[in-house]
Amino acid sequence: MNLLERESTAMFHTYKRLPLEVDHGKGVYLYTADGKKYLDMFAGLAVNALGYSHPRIVAAIGEQVGRYIHLSNYFPQEPQIRLAEMLRTYSGYKKVFLANSGTESIEGAIKLARKWGAGKGKTEIIAFSNAFHGRTMGALSLMDRPKYLEGYGPFLPNCRVVEFNNTGELRKNVSGRTAAVLLESIQGEGGINPVTPEFAEEITNLQKSSGFLVIADEIQSGIGRTGKFFGFQHFTLSPDIIVIAKPIGGGLPLGAIIGGPKVADVFEPGVHGTTFGGNPVACAAGIAVLDEITEHGLIDNARLMGEILFSGLRGLQKEFPNLVKEVRGFGLMAGMELNREGEGIVAALRDDGILINCTNTNVLRFLPPLIIEKPHVETTLESLRKAFRSL
Ligand code: PLP
Repeated sequence: MNLLERESTAMFHTYKRLPLEVDHGKGVYLYTADGKKYLDMFAGLAVNALGYSHPRIVAAIGEQVGRYIHLSNYFPQEPQIRLAEMLRTYSGYKKVFLANSGTESIEGAIKLARKWGAGKGKTEIIAFSNAFHGRTMGALSLMDRPKYLEGYGPFLPNCRVVEFNNTGELRKNVSGRTAAVLLESIQGEGGINPVTPEFAEEITNLQKSSGFLVIADEIQSGIGRTGKFFGFQHFTLSPDIIVIAKPIGGGLPLGAIIGGPKVADVFEPGVHGTTFGGNPVACAAGIAVLDEITEHGLIDNARLMGEILFSGLRGLQKEFPNLVKEVRGFGLMAGMELNREGEGIVAALRDDGILINCTNTNVLRFLPPLIIEKPHVETTLESLRKAFRSL
């Protein structure tokens, strides 16, 4: 039996898999058991910011494993504290809580906002249509796409999903009871849809006048991918809480809630916690990720490579106006919306040794590692042109 056959017997059928058996990864490439090499332009869905088997991450993990893999929350732990100090420095925020994943960090952020609002009469959380915040019940309560929600209700009370980028709707739904507004400033799973500058400005105006918290879901867009440390920094947004995950653990499970001054003192011992969150091995990897990104100018690289990628994608849009509807995104978080389903193009690139992803059925998504170089971008664009021509 091959891997897919064994998997379908042993595991719940929750994922659509690619027909590839990976043997190992190195840098920007994946190598399959049948000896093929693939340029990975979606990098573990934005997790593998430094590509595969990065020596700095491998060394950091090895060293921490030799010291201790786990201690309970009764002990202060150097890797957790160092990582939190670094996140404070790079964000300019006050406090960090370490969790295991994106969705668990979103749950923690919801709890933080609710606790902040308790006693002020602020219990409502507002989020936006077409967003993706995770798979747990709190996150689902703040999403609207039926494919994620059907069959799972009832959801959390006092949660509203308002149309994304509709300022009138937002104004109608905000009130003195609003505790927080949660948003992806650049929606990832929803098809790389950035917030409009006017909508961002309205959120910030209402945040000041209404006194709610803004929570930025930076799980996909954070840590340099968009050419700035956080995606929201492309807009006039000033979140009170930032949620990160995906790339921060270098491939190990890790997420974080980063809080500004308004929420810095809301949590006290015993009110929130996790057994594995902030695992010291994952934190050691996270420190290596941040050191590598900052010491090697990888945020600038994301911006520069993003310029080449976007100029190429826009060129293809001009060349194939009947196929390409729109090109959207920032840096190395790029989406190309097609006038047709994208899976055929994804398969054509795969046959050409390049891995991209399609989200929302017709948006080709590019989330390459931040270590990508110009020839990788050019090869991808050439392969895309070839695939478009063959249609
Ligand atoms: N928020 C965003 C923007 C995401 O892209 C994701 C995952 O794709 C999540 C939340 C959920 O993260 P996780 O899968 O680690 O729970």
